[in-house]
Amino acid sequence: MKDDNFLRENNARHLWHPMAAPADMQTNAPKIITGAEGVSITDIDDNTVVDAVGGLWCVNLGYSNNTVKEAIAKQLYDLPYYSAFGGTSNPPAIEASYAVREFFEPDGMVRIFFTSGGSDSVETCLRLARQYHRLRGEPTRTKFLSLKKGYHGTHFGGASVNGNNRFRINYEPLLPGCFHMPSPYTYRNPFDETDPAKLAQSIAKVTEDEIAFQGSNTIAALIMEPIQGAGGVIVPDSSFMKLLREICDRHGILLISDEVITGFGRTGDWSGARHWGVQPDMMSTAKGITSGYFPVGAAMMNQKVADVFENDTTGEAGIYHGYTYSAHPVGAAAVIATLAETQRLDLKTNAAARGTQLYEGALKLADKYDIIGDVRGGHGLMTGIEIVSDRTAKTPMDMDTMKRIHQTVYEAGTMVRLGAHNVLMSPPLTITEAEVDSILAALDKGFAAA
Ligand code: PMP
Repeated sequence: MKDDNFLRENNARHLWHPMAAPADMQTNAPKIITGAEGVSITDIDDNTVVDAVGGLWCVNLGYSNNTVKEAIAKQLYDLPYYSAFGGTSNPPAIEASYAVREFFEPDGMVRIFFTSGGSDSVETCLRLARQYHRLRGEPTRTKFLSLKKGYHGTHFGGASVNGNNRFRINYEPLLPGCFHMPSPYTYRNPFDETDPAKLAQSIAKVTEDEIAFQGSNTIAALIMEPIQGAGGVIVPDSSFMKLLREICDRHGILLISDEVITGFGRTGDWSGARHWGVQPDMMSTAKGITSGYFPVGAAMMNQKVADVFENDTTGEAGIYHGYTYSAHPVGAAAVIATLAETQRLDLKTNAAARGTQLYEGALKLADKYDIIGDVRGGHGLMTGIEIVSDRTAKTPMDMDTMKRIHQTVYEAGTMVRLGAHNVLMSPPLTITEAEVDSILAALDKGFAAA
């Protein structure tokens, strides 16, 4: 390994960072993270801070799970790679599909398609949704519905259903036939509706209206996050996902639950859909499936979708889609160990308790600081704090101040994530009460310095 001087000099010189402007990385050098233990990370200057981001909403087990690390290391020696394209398989992939199916069977998921990450899983769901309708004899169903402020990764399909213009504008034209419904965001919405249940009703009406306008026989699927994550941790009313499920059923539209963040315990349940009492037709997952230790995702299908592929008589049910690393044996070994550890440690229960603690602590900070416009969370370990320069006018805080808050919080011992003018948190699901208290204390210092 090269020495620290080499790393500092070459930091972002040759490496283009995702979600950053290359020139900005030259002037605002990215923090070089050199190690991690438990729920904390250490940087090149030997600062150790609690990682309230959980890597990127993914390190559910924290950084020190040796069971998962050993499973990965062992598999590297047994079989480091083999393809799972039709014709060959491998033992960990078979076992992982069994384990993932068992995990998500209460959500109705019965078939698993492994991918290399969340964007891949979303893409897989979108593509298979179209193929499902073709196989059923409704090839006109090609369009997709989604929600504004939703994040579904950065492939062209995912970016097309994405509900944040920042991820779209430079890459247009995107997929035609994608239509975006309002987000269940009570703090800002086109209806000026602050009541979550009423807002859910209004969005349901707009969705019905759009379906009538497009023609329901042109729509393949509606994709949504059970709780919008990257868009700012937007928690809908408990009726919302059920309302959309009911609309999809009535119009023969598949419901895809994008569980890349919300799967595997983050919401306080094993899936976000389960949290709201809904069974989707398809689910996209990644992140917590290996706790971020290896890049893996999974797209999943319910029996209704599986039957159409498996009982096909058209001869068109070949899935001409997949990734070199689909069902990667090392990834699959990571999945098996991660799921076992996730269940053994009952991460969902800790996520629920610590999530409530973090949310309630953030609400107390909102009483203290006028710059806090909105606090969202309370459903597991995802919390968003929206920062404004004027509470009455809800003016988004400028980015210089946001960066100052971020740095002060870091210096006070906690890494948080900025999503525009939101402070976003999704710590490891293993976090303790004392560690959540230390996050809240660091936030307090950061807001005081704004
Ligand atoms: N869907 C959702 C809901 C996500 O949060 C993300 C990533 N944050 C993705 C898809 C894309 O996943 P990836 O970055 O692994 O491609």
